[in-house]
Amino acid sequence: MDPSSQPEPEVGADLRSALEAAGWRLTRQRAAVYDQLRQAHYHPSAEDLYRRVKVVVPSISLATVYKALDALVASGLATRLVAANGSARYDARSDHHYHLRCLRSGVVEDVPTPFDPDLIAKIDPDLGPKLADKGFHVTGYRLELIGFFEESIPGSETGETS
Ligand SMILES: [Zn+2]
Repeated sequence: MDPSSQPEPEVGADLRSALEAAGWRLTRQRAAVYDQLRQAHYHPSAEDLYRRVKVVVPSISLATVYKALDALVASGLATRLVAANGSARYDARSDHHYHLRCLRSGVVEDVPTPFDPDLIAKIDPDLGPKLADKGFHVTGYRLELIGFFEESIPGSETGETS
């Protein structure tokens, strides 16, 4: 039996219409990837999602997960958070929010503080007009706090002083 002829799992009409508006078809694999991404309250990598989706759709490949994530990002249903080293994590939360990134473990978490749409104007009220003069129109901004969790420092748990 052709696996693609199996009925699609129940998904919101929002997923179908957002994908179709961006020129993508809703497939069983894409629905499963989106489902797992929404259930993951951390910010999983493609490999993390592959392991989760494989439980539901055993035949899925890592390449299909990557393509599904491309479709979800292009449709505005997910955001790709790229680290300086090029590794990417994914976020299905669609409201504006800030992140923190642990530089030792790579963990990305949401920051529990309200999003301020006027933050850039507070930093520099002239910046928006200056950039507009250059022909650049600001449509938003992203803020990521970087640092590390104490627990992620090797040896910090043992208190070794050597
Ligand atoms: Zn997030």
